[in-house]
Amino acid sequence: MLNIILFGPPGSGKGTQASNLVDHYDLLHISTGDLFRYEMGNNTPLGLEAKSYIAKGDLVPDEVTIGMLKNKVNTNPDVNGYIFDGFPRTLAQAESLDAFLAEKESEITVLTALEVDDNEIVKRILNRGLTSGRTDDNDESIIRKRIGNYNNETAQVFDYYAKSNKSIKVSGIGSIEEIFDRLTYAIDKDK
Ligand code: ADP
Repeated sequence: MLNIILFGPPGSGKGTQASNLVDHYDLLHISTGDLFRYEMGNNTPLGLEAKSYIAKGDLVPDEVTIGMLKNKVNTNPDVNGYIFDGFPRTLAQAESLDAFLAEKESEITVLTALEVDDNEIVKRILNRGLTSGRTDDNDESIIRKRIGNYNNETAQVFDYYAKSNKSIKVSGIGSIEEIFDRLTYAIDKDK
């Protein structure tokens, strides 16, 4: 199995690159942000709970997020591998993911981290907010909070996978094709 964590701050282009990588490697794309938006769109209990955190720029509690992620994997077992986009975002999520994959005699192959500086991110997300319909993309203070969460909490996940030499930094500045080439180069080297 090829299991990729596509890592990077909000607005670093993970969604765009994930959909290209999915086609290239024939994997299943699992974006926790997309899963939450689907649940919110359908006003499910999970969606309503998630909404109270997402609207403020906070992380959804681990228990909720991990349960949702496992459910998505368990209902899609017959695949060549997964691209995890927006997950894991905390150390607890990373540890749960590893234990969960180990139960399936699988593991994370590689974590690729897109690097984009904070001011560029704010610009990109505000721009995305003009058309995305995402209320968390319209307010600079909420965007800065999400970036703060990434730097304070999520960045540790990079170091966690670096301990087993799985973490690779990739510049997230350039054209979509250039960044895609950098990602596939990093992934092919490690798989
Ligand atoms: P972005 O990367 O642009 O912030 P996402 O679509 O990945 O957007 O996530 C949107 C929001 O959903 C996050 O700000 C957070 O509130 C919530 N979320 C997504 N994934 C997770 C996760 N793994 N753990 C906790 N909260 C999450």
